[in-house]
Amino acid sequence: MEGSPFRGVTAALATMHGKQWALRPPLRRRLGLGLRVAAVDTDALGTFTGEVPRPGTARETVLRKARLGMSATGCPVGLASEGAFGPHPTLPGVPADVEYVALVDDRSGLTVVESVVSLETNHAQLTTDGRDRLAVVAFLRRVGFPHHAVVVRPARGAGRPEKGLRRLGDVFAALRRAAAGSADGDAVLAADLRAHVNPTRMRVIAAAGLGLTRRLATTCPECAAPGFGPLGTEAGLPCRDCGTPTHDVAVRVSGCARCPYRERRPVAGAADPGSCPRCNP
Ligand SMILES: [Zn+2]
Ligand SMILES: [Zn+2]
Repeated sequence: MEGSPFRGVTAALATMHGKQWALRPPLRRRLGLGLRVAAVDTDALGTFTGEVPRPGTARETVLRKARLGMSATGCPVGLASEGAFGPHPTLPGVPADVEYVALVDDRSGLTVVESVVSLETNHAQLTTDGRDRLAVVAFLRRVGFPHHAVVVRPARGAGRPEKGLRRLGDVFAALRRAAAGSADGDAVLAADLRAHVNPTRMRVIAAAGLGLTRRLATTCPECAAPGFGPLGTEAGLPCRDCGTPTHDVAVRVSGCARCPYRERRPVAGAADPGSCPRCNP
């Protein structure tokens, strides 16, 4: 924390979903940065249940959210988090949770975005008319109910989703209502992905917050700005047997959030011939 440019500073955190519990501890401990919750309507920037579509990418949304909190509180520093659920970027068909956490600092013009990809997610849904109680209960068990809440909405039609359900009786009642209000008599039962009712997601947000903290605690060797850290990787690690470049990571690239300075660190060793396009086509 010694010399941290964030020591004694308070940042606005735009959240309606208790994200301060995941983000506050590492920021305070390592950077001396405090958080002030800005209770702005972050749902206006999009919801997981689809009533409000999400314009732009998660990265753009997280920065817009941070700015929303800054203008609501007048803090020159803002923080926000945003999640994206879908197939894993490199493992097709595997569900993943990508969590973005951003810091915007108008005092210095710094913008830092950190992201974490996690396979640990209960992101799932079931289409049901609610009469097969065993199937419903099996699904609820799979998504970690009741520690994780669920949402229910009509499968077809414009009915509003019922969110934050944590009691079995409430789930079946909501399924009956949604099925009755659906053009095809079916309801959709899904994991509630909002952080305050989804401890699995809250853990991934905490990991992203820790990553952001580490990045902000690392200064650029060239311009001394905070926010130096991993940017990406380059493939091409040579095969151990024949030396052909493979898709395995060959170089890790780190960079500055403010200046163009980059560091390329080659990965030691060689790739297994099993991942070689020539030895194992
Ligand atoms: Zn720099
Ligand atoms: Zn080879």
